[in-house]
Amino acid sequence: MRPLAYVGIGANLGDARATVRAACERLRPLGALRCSSLYRSAPVDAGGPDFVNAVVELQPTLDPAALLAALQAIEADFGRERPFRHAPRTLDLDLLLYGDEVVGTPSLTLPHPRLHQRAFVLQPLLELAPALQAPGLGALSAWLPATAGQGIERLAG
Ligand code: AMP
Repeated sequence: MRPLAYVGIGANLGDARATVRAACERLRPLGALRCSSLYRSAPVDAGGPDFVNAVVELQPTLDPAALLAALQAIEADFGRERPFRHAPRTLDLDLLLYGDEVVGTPSLTLPHPRLHQRAFVLQPLLELAPALQAPGLGALSAWLPATAGQGIERLAG
């Protein structure tokens, strides 16, 4: 049995809420169990309008590298364009955690290197799994206070 994994979803172009909801559904064949609430966050190091974010919990059907490749295929399907670094994006999918796996290859870093610094990741992640621990980071809830200055709100419905 593979461990639980978590995928971060972000969108800030077009109908971003609809994109995030559709992405949650697209993750079901990959083992998605639950999708968090949707959140609205101010761009941290990207341009454009506010982001809509969520996190999905998966019982993955694929190993980490294959799961990342599947996430990138979904991003491409959603018409992501990357004309320049940090350009506004239709859909961004990040593999945040895959159980206790620690990976450091050119194409995949686990845990995701910025996971603990971003309110738009921590808040939906902790909504799903309040006691979640990550290798090298410990209890993720301990990182939340340091992100208090980041603009984020949970969206109703
Ligand atoms: P981004 O522009 O933020 O979507 O970054 C995508 C790049 O980050 C790709 O080249 C991925 O191979 C790489 N990457 C490394 N670790 C991860 C991860 N845990 N989740 C998603 N992308 C990753």
